[in-house]
Amino acid sequence: DVVVVGSANADLVVGVDRRPGPGETVLGSDLATHPGGKGANQAVAVARLGGRAALVGRIGDDGHGALLRDALAADGVDLAQLTTTPGVPTGVAMITVGPDGDNSIVVSPGANARLGPADVAAARDLIAAASVVSLQLEVPLPAVEAAAHAAAGTGGRVVLNLSPPAPVPADLLALCDPLVVNEHEAARLLDEDARPAGHADSADPAGLAAALARTGPRSVVITLGADGVVVTDAAHAAPVRVASPRVKAVDTTGAGDAFTAALCLRLARGDALPDAARYAARAGAAAVRAHGAQSSFPTADELPEPG
Ligand code: ADP
Repeated sequence: DVVVVGSANADLVVGVDRRPGPGETVLGSDLATHPGGKGANQAVAVARLGGRAALVGRIGDDGHGALLRDALAADGVDLAQLTTTPGVPTGVAMITVGPDGDNSIVVSPGANARLGPADVAAARDLIAAASVVSLQLEVPLPAVEAAAHAAAGTGGRVVLNLSPPAPVPADLLALCDPLVVNEHEAARLLDEDARPAGHADSADPAGLAAALARTGPRSVVITLGADGVVVTDAAHAAPVRVASPRVKAVDTTGAGDAFTAALCLRLARGDALPDAARYAARAGAAAVRAHGAQSSFPTADELPEPG
């Protein structure tokens, strides 16, 4: 169903009362180590919802790599194109969590930074067989571009989650169907966009979606947290709003990844974009009900009712 080309990180999480300033040391809680990274998270989320998922990525030959491989394998993700890179550490996200649950994160990309067009070429049969290829920006842009062009060349649908936000070339944007962003990423993209159609009021999600649509992607999905989703595509004259289920939010980590993964799965199964977004909002909402990223991802029977 879905091939994810993207990152795999070990999330190293420490709770702190306050963050150290320069030159300062503070004591934190016990270290918790969780499998993460947007690519790995999405692959796991697809598989947990019952889809076939493969991850094209790179990990290091170390304990974190083994942790990630085990977590992905436990959910049944196809790992034939997950390459172990000798002599390079697995990517890590060093996360401190403050007393209010606020995160500060430093990502060390490690092996993820070595993912390139050659890895995409090695995965060409897998990509050719996929209905949907899911991309994010935690791996180098040349790998993302190669994957998008490979997918488009074999009739696959390209879904790009522009996270972390960065400028992308127009020919990549033109392949995105949809481009998936949250409100902040949407605003960033429009700010950086020199094209005159770009500017819009970020307090108006439908206007934001319409402005983003004018920058070149085939369709646009903007996620709005508890406020749901707004979708634009060629089949609808005006942006379509989709509600989020009402849930008690415990930890939003991974919500965007669960959302995008579920969207890709439903698109692979033939849903129209607004229907896929309605399903995906249920997966995103499910992921905020529990702590962590992969540990909070739902199976199909754990999805909350639509909002
Ligand atoms: P990101 O995690 O990338 O910032 P969002 O916060 O917009 O993205 O979350 C992605 C999706 O997850 C939302 O569109 C929504 O469907 C779901 N979601 C996130 N937070 C909540 C929440 N508090 N209540 C219900 N659904 C939520």
